[in-house]
Amino acid sequence: MIKVGIIGGGAAGLFAACFLRKEGVSFTLLEKGPECGRKLLLTGHGRCNITNRKPVTELMQGYHEASKFIKPALSSFGPEDAVKFIEEELRVPLKEEENNRMFPVSDKASDIRDALVKYAGQMNILTNFDVVDIEYDGNQKYEPFTVTAKDGRVLMFDRLIMATGGKTFPKTGSDGKAYELLGGILGHKITPLYPALTGVPVSGADKEFTSSLSGVSVYAGAGLYLDNRKKNKTEGDVLFTHEGLTGPAIIELARDIPEDVTEHDGWIELDFTPGRDDTEVDKELLEQIRQRPDARLTTIGASFVPASLSRAIGERAGVTDLVAANATKEHRKEFLRNLKHLHMTIDRQPKFETAYVTRGGVALDEIDRKTCQSKVFPGVYVIGEALDIDGISGGYNLQAAISEAYIAVRAIM
Ligand SMILES: Cc1cc2nc3c(=O)[nH]c(=O)nc-3n(C[C@H](O)[C@H](O)[C@H](O)COP(=O)(O)OP(=O)(O)OC[C@H]3O[C@@H](n4cnc5c(N)ncnc54)[C@H](O)[C@@H]3O)c2cc1C
Repeated sequence: MIKVGIIGGGAAGLFAACFLRKEGVSFTLLEKGPECGRKLLLTGHGRCNITNRKPVTELMQGYHEASKFIKPALSSFGPEDAVKFIEEELRVPLKEEENNRMFPVSDKASDIRDALVKYAGQMNILTNFDVVDIEYDGNQKYEPFTVTAKDGRVLMFDRLIMATGGKTFPKTGSDGKAYELLGGILGHKITPLYPALTGVPVSGADKEFTSSLSGVSVYAGAGLYLDNRKKNKTEGDVLFTHEGLTGPAIIELARDIPEDVTEHDGWIELDFTPGRDDTEVDKELLEQIRQRPDARLTTIGASFVPASLSRAIGERAGVTDLVAANATKEHRKEFLRNLKHLHMTIDRQPKFETAYVTRGGVALDEIDRKTCQSKVFPGVYVIGEALDIDGISGGYNLQAAISEAYIAVRAIM
């Protein structure tokens, strides 16, 4: 009977453990922290958005450059399979919320984590086992993999599942050190790492602007520019903070901000009337100026955006107290420019410490997409965030971990 070693007790490792348990395959899960699933407990603001019930053809579009790669995994074990497994095997009832996002009915991520640990079996889990070395002896027919922990403990396995996570929220255990195992020891190419799904800090005067609006949320179009080239665009809620910008429309842009962003001209352009072009909005502005000549321009602007934002835009456009009747074409244009093309200069790359996922990781051309087995090191399977796959927000990243765990286990059986 083969013996599988799972390195990493996050979402991917725990699901792999449960699938192995269901099939009766012998395994040991090795987690370097004092408990499993520390990041899982933080997911969905402690509620755990475990998956997204969109059809696979739609879901796969949420994985950026990896959408093709992940298709076989999602097709083998998609959201419907995940929901069934969690409800019927783990016995955690789920509910669907806006945009097909699935959560436990209890709204407690701990219910998912605890059920996974229980199903996998505590006796199959070793915590405080920080894997620092992996050796392979090709002459040995059985258990050729030797895994060594920091404290000197040694275990041997027939197959290894690497589920060591990414580099974000390092206090949860996935601090990026495992790339040394995956790259240095197992010889994988590690693609450049970026913090993804996180807010964006803005610089100088722009920070004063966002700080003055801290807590205000507005629907907007957002475009990321580097050296005058548009790298990405989104549309959705934007939230102003003391540090800069966040919210659903902003966090999706973070993955394209390079470490050396300060050496580039990088900014986010906000459009507070998305879907309507400048001419159309200008026409409406002009019409309102005609109808309400005694109103301030910023009061008129409040019919497009929240009043506090209109005032901040007015200040930036230099028309703070300007009465509509006195607004020249230039005043109007300047107000419109800030309403539809507000530039927020990026201060620096967002931090890994606060990002939800890592873009980059083990290069996908070195992994078999039908099994997640390494082409560089047969017998080793890489799953979860350790791979160069990051999904958009909404349950995509946990679903990726679940689907990859499933195909790896199916291949091992
Ligand atoms: C605040 C927050 C909220 C999120 N919310 C959601 C959400 O609602 N829905 C969603 O889909 N995604 C969400 N995500 C993303 C999701 O949590 C991750 O994509 C997912 O947890 C990745 O699972 P993983 O098992 O690959 O990695 P991890 O969960 O990071 O687990 C990796 C594990 O490996 C262990 N490890 C690392 N190196 C070693 C070693 N050398 N030896 C032994 N063990 C080791 C670590 O200690 C860790 O426990 C969120 C992320 C964050 C930070």
